[in-house]
Amino acid sequence: LDRAKDETSISFTSGSRPASQGSIINLDHGDPTMFESFWRSTGEDATIVIPGWQMMSYFSDVTNLCWFLDPEFAKQIRRLHALVGNAVAEDRHIVVGTGSTQLFQAALFALSPSDALQPTPVVSTVPYYSSYPAVTDFLRSGLFRWAGDANNFQGKHYIELVCSPNNPDGFMKEAVLKSDTGTTIHDLAYYWPQYTAITKPADHEIMLFTVSKSTGHAGTRLGWALVKDQEIAKRMTKFVELNSIGVSKDSQLRAAKILKVISDGYEIPNPGQPKLFEFGRNLLRQRWERLREVVRETGIFSLPEFPSAHCTFTGSTTSSFPAFAWVKCEWEEAEDCAEFLKKHNILTRSGKHFGVGINHARVSMLDRDETFDLFIQRLASIK
Ligand code: PMP
Repeated sequence: LDRAKDETSISFTSGSRPASQGSIINLDHGDPTMFESFWRSTGEDATIVIPGWQMMSYFSDVTNLCWFLDPEFAKQIRRLHALVGNAVAEDRHIVVGTGSTQLFQAALFALSPSDALQPTPVVSTVPYYSSYPAVTDFLRSGLFRWAGDANNFQGKHYIELVCSPNNPDGFMKEAVLKSDTGTTIHDLAYYWPQYTAITKPADHEIMLFTVSKSTGHAGTRLGWALVKDQEIAKRMTKFVELNSIGVSKDSQLRAAKILKVISDGYEIPNPGQPKLFEFGRNLLRQRWERLREVVRETGIFSLPEFPSAHCTFTGSTTSSFPAFAWVKCEWEEAEDCAEFLKKHNILTRSGKHFGVGINHARVSMLDRDETFDLFIQRLASIK
């Protein structure tokens, strides 16, 4: 984001700015603007209006453990998980956060014993989501500390972050550490049918989801955690209370409506009703096919290959079409993959931020059509 702001003299394909021929193509962050065209097609159905007097209180439901969680949002979260079959939500506590980024921090707080002599080590297998080390350490907490690659970790007390499907490489992941005193946080931001086959309802201690990647509403800044243990859910709620005294009710109202429209699209028979996961899946499949073709023609990069699996949601066998392409440079002069692409006015995120080498780079697949088209054109023209 900073880079996009700094270099203002050249036009960028970022945020609300549309792409034009000479633009620098910004695929550094996973801004999910490709979903805009779906939400345009739903018209008024997903619109909300909030009168000036409404939702002024801090409180949403004082009878609930997470007292700032809007009951309608909670209802639509459970309804969507039941429809998709991607996670057990029925008798789990729901904690809402300002993005799953806040909930990730709430979970670190909840899982770190306050009386420990040393900060609890936080680990994840490489390549890990670049925000994990940055967010864990930016306030230099005495409660927890980033400890790098889970594969190299030895110890009994830890928090292991499992991101599945994984950002950046798109593969399904499982915890690699096992200990009675170790804990795990499952970040399931991408465990939705547009990205991968839904093989079973996930059922872990702490599971994080976000509207940013499921519906594309990153600007709404809402995530939710499904939590088994009541004490952990209470501590996560406490974190959000101390950090921001709850979560925007306006956002929750909007997100409840958005989730409702998605579920209605499947559950209320209406042939004209657009279906979000089909839209996302078809678009991502086409994009991956085009990317694989240009990669094959130029030979500059290689891409991961994904196994197929039976998707219980769609009822068919399918490959994965991840939100990011994790490209590996195959040319010697392109050894620093992100630097090489930058010379061609394509901004990506270097592998070094994900705990691996500079010969990898992460490229967002979630931008608008015109940006993705430019990206493919530009890759094809590299000689
Ligand atoms: N987890 C993963 C794996 C992500 O890729 C992202 C967004 N890039 C997040 C969490 C954060 O999502 P949010 O916008 O809900 O804070």
